[in-house]
Amino acid sequence: MVVFLSKESEIAEVNKIINRSGLTAFLVKGSPNRLIFQKKVDLKEVCPELLKYIDDIRYAKESYKLIESGVNESSALIKVGDTFIGREHFKVIAGPCAIEGRGMIDETASFLREIGVKIMRGGCYKPRTSPYKFQGLKEEGVRLMYQAAKRNGLLMVTEAIDLESLEQITPYTDIIQIGARNMQNFSLLKAVGKTEKPVILKRGLSASIEEWLSSGEYIASEGNNQIILCERGIKTFEDSVRYSLDISSIPVLKDKTDLPIILDPSHAAGDFKYVGALAKGGVGAGCDGLLIEVHPNPKEALCDSKQQLSFKEFKKLFEEIVEIRKSLSN
Ligand code: PEP
Ligand code: MN
Repeated sequence: MVVFLSKESEIAEVNKIINRSGLTAFLVKGSPNRLIFQKKVDLKEVCPELLKYIDDIRYAKESYKLIESGVNESSALIKVGDTFIGREHFKVIAGPCAIEGRGMIDETASFLREIGVKIMRGGCYKPRTSPYKFQGLKEEGVRLMYQAAKRNGLLMVTEAIDLESLEQITPYTDIIQIGARNMQNFSLLKAVGKTEKPVILKRGLSASIEEWLSSGEYIASEGNNQIILCERGIKTFEDSVRYSLDISSIPVLKDKTDLPIILDPSHAAGDFKYVGALAKGGVGAGCDGLLIEVHPNPKEALCDSKQQLSFKEFKKLFEEIVEIRKSLSN
């Protein structure tokens, strides 16, 4: 009978045995407790002490071992507050590009609650291309967003742009977002890996799927496998849209990993006119959710004003997505 690893001390003991025996192995605790190796080993021979803790052994094919498909199926379903993302739990996450003040975030939160959105997005620390553009309300933004979310029974997601902002947002946010520009900020990835919060990991502007998954592995290797991948478009020679949305990453990722994958049509399109078509394309391709920018008055928005949907536009798209989802499940 294998020991079910539930206590920190038991997990530490197993990791100590692994280190002592000089094995390169990664423990995935749960039911079953699983060890991931890169090469074939005979555990009975190389480390019999481990046998009582381990009931399954897997050999990773890829460099991203812990998030490789079939290794840890529990990572397909992520609990966020009292709800889930992944498997049959499709989620639309929506909100403004940035928190700009109390009025607009209160207004947005109450609109989202009314139409049935459960998770609100919004940047408090903004990674802007130019240092002279609005950088976000920072701590004040987090406070306003948290209050608006709480008052309306919403969960929130906001971005950490560095270690300092990560520390500031972690107690308040339900999901930590790592933006495209930070996808390979390895110290930030390791730091979010040490938190216990779900993470939205956006695809880097010029990152391959392999590089993106390797960044996910940085987070998982620190102990946090609550990772939601977010496709948001990549740089190509095409300049009629802000980024080229790589819809093919959805089926490719479904093949390579169990992690949920959501789609951000707003940053890809860069124009409100195209957001709906891209969102619906993503739903058709099988994404597990959407991340969409919506603002009470997009023309006046302090950032990404061209791509944010008005409440009216968002409501229409949200209803269409609900219908498409229903028809896909029939
Ligand atoms: C965002 O979602 O607020 C954002 C800045 O997006 P990205 O990192 O994908 O550019
Ligand atoms: Mn934006």
